[in-house]
Amino acid sequence: MTTSAQLFERACRRIPGGVNSPVRAFKGMDRSPVFMERAQGAYLFDVEGKRYIDYVGSWGPMITGHADPDVLGAVRERLDDGLSFGTPTAIETDMADLICEMIPSMDMVRMVNSGTEATMSAVRLARGYTGRDKIVKFEGNYHGHTDSLLVKAGSGAVTHGEPSSPGVPASLAEHTITLSYNDPDAVEACFEEIGDQIACIIVEPVAGNMNCIPPQPDFLETLRRVCDRHESVLIFDEVMTGFRVAMGGAQAHYGVTPDLTCLGKIVGGGMPVGAFGGRRSIMENISPLGPIYQAGTLAGNPLAMAAGIALLNKVREPGFHDALSQRAATLCEGLQTRADAAGIDMITQQAGGMFGIFFTGQSRVDNFAQATACDGDAFRRFFSAMLDQGIYLAPSAFEAGFMSSAHAPEDIQATLDAAETVFASMNQA
Ligand code: PMP
Repeated sequence: MTTSAQLFERACRRIPGGVNSPVRAFKGMDRSPVFMERAQGAYLFDVEGKRYIDYVGSWGPMITGHADPDVLGAVRERLDDGLSFGTPTAIETDMADLICEMIPSMDMVRMVNSGTEATMSAVRLARGYTGRDKIVKFEGNYHGHTDSLLVKAGSGAVTHGEPSSPGVPASLAEHTITLSYNDPDAVEACFEEIGDQIACIIVEPVAGNMNCIPPQPDFLETLRRVCDRHESVLIFDEVMTGFRVAMGGAQAHYGVTPDLTCLGKIVGGGMPVGAFGGRRSIMENISPLGPIYQAGTLAGNPLAMAAGIALLNKVREPGFHDALSQRAATLCEGLQTRADAAGIDMITQQAGGMFGIFFTGQSRVDNFAQATACDGDAFRRFFSAMLDQGIYLAPSAFEAGFMSSAHAPEDIQATLDAAETVFASMNQA
């Protein structure tokens, strides 16, 4: 049998860090990554045959569990027709109709191949539309690895200690203004000073890349207000929250309507897909209708559209998000009870089907400074011991956890039983 350790050693010879996306490397977790062979429902199975209850869900897309038969069936059905044509196909409009129906603020939508492309294109569109260069983002929010947005970013960028990456020209980064999340006063002050130079605000309406941090009351509303006042474009990056926090995304859950929305993850059902869209008057400026350029050889790929449509049709079922949210709440409440009983300083935060586990004595975590002040060593020990117990959590204290509808009550109970054992062991250490 080939072990994960052997595969990792081999991978490291040809792939930087042995991985094709940095957080997969388990950096800072004092162990090497587990190589997976297959996945089914709530479970991952590694190359050594060990089963894990998975709370990463491929970082979000697998909201109905892995290898969903409806999603696989939709792909299988189209497979023999060919993989890509580079021409328009009817299924792209089926997808566009579905997205715009589920997210009413989106009049028009363009498909791309990743979340990174979605945010990159939305920011370019906002700049082209307003004729302004400056953009506002929030510390610890991650919007993919496009240059303008890789400034004080979250996710792997912070895990790997490089929230502002070398390679991003200072002359570009200087147009990115970074403010503290959940601080409406800072936003007001910034717009008071230079609002008329700001093309857009881009925000994760629930932050999921510095663990899970929901917006405080009036934060998103303030963003809407200042953008209206200064004719700036409000972009919600719903790559993570879209179709997860609620059917219509965080904008439906919190009742704040952006001008543009970025999507990814669930919209592709596990295939490489992103999308951006919003108000018709803005979207009509994209080429070939307008002068702002954006394109993609494989964009709107028919197999990817088939997978995404099949998954979106499942999450549209009445009651889907209530049930998902309830499962996440059961997990969070169960973890809290057990941590309290063991005398471990830990809190959880949740928004719909996403959640976060923070090792802190604080009662809430609202921003990047508070997230990075949590006990990283306690997280590392918790993560590693849970992995040994067959529970697969994100290998970083700066990532959200993802619940799926395939997590049965017994899976959640098994997770809580494992956590009880782990909390007890952490106390002894
Ligand atoms: N925006 C958000 C909010 C994300 O969480 C991510 C990825 N986790 C991205 C953008 C980038 O998406 P991708 O990795 O598909 O490029």
